Amino acid sequence: MIEIDPSAPALTGGVDLIAPNVWRIVASNPSALTGPGTNTYVIGSEARIVVDPGPDDPAHLETIVALGGGRIEQILCTHSHSDHSPGAAPLQALTGALVRGRPAPNDAYQDLTYAPDRSLDDGERIAVARATLLALHTPGHASNHVCFLLEESGMLFTGDHLMNGSTVVILPPDGSMRLYVESLRHMLTMPIVTLAPGHGAVIDNAPADIERVIAHRLKREIKLVNALSRRGEATLDDVLAEVYDDTPQALHRLAKFSLLAHAIKLEEEGRAA
Ligand SMILES: [Zn+2]
Repeated sequence: MIEIDPSAPALTGGVDLIAPNVWRIVASNPSALTGPGTNTYVIGSEARIVVDPGPDDPAHLETIVALGGGRIEQILCTHSHSDHSPGAAPLQALTGALVRGRPAPNDAYQDLTYAPDRSLDDGERIAVARATLLALHTPGHASNHVCFLLEESGMLFTGDHLMNGSTVVILPPDGSMRLYVESLRHMLTMPIVTLAPGHGAVIDNAPADIERVIAHRLKREIKLVNALSRRGEATLDDVLAEVYDDTPQALHRLAKFSLLAHAIKLEEEGRAA
């Protein structure tokens, strides 16, 4: 008998029952960007839904199939980055399940094997017995990003829109800081209780965490505004160290993408040129 443990740490290769009818399997792809690895969720009882099959890793797929108990009907992808969707096609071959998600945008960071059978609209519901997932289109980290709200419990499967323990990188032009913050604000209007992220453990006070992330992004934006107004004109490299003075130097290369996203947001809002 396995007990439900919502606070179980997400350990590489770990399998945990984190809520009634919700299993989390952590793929063995740990890295600076993926934390302990990508979280794959198996949801439902009689019939099952998989959220983010993760990398095309035979051992990981075998665990998903074993937990699915021959009842996986749908494979949902939050977005098409290479740590989230490459498992979709091989998992479909093993289970015959339908692959759903929004089509991949055209940039250099997409999983080229990803081909959803059907797109997902904002507000669409995917239901099996005892589990109804409401699709929320949440552009920002990626333009085709979707989060899924398990309506029975208010658990939100956040993909890469929100992570536990680190700040999500926004890669323009497909990623957009303006839409990222807008998507977060929209989340605050939804009955979300807990966050089940694409990387890391469950976050239990969802509204407080979403507020914290919005505040963190706006604080970063203010630092950029200050750095720009003092200089009048500057390149990203001129202001990077100042705007990210609280971030380890080793992460500045990645931070530069988010800095660009902040600069584009200011330009879109007519606050910088
Ligand atoms: Zn991603």
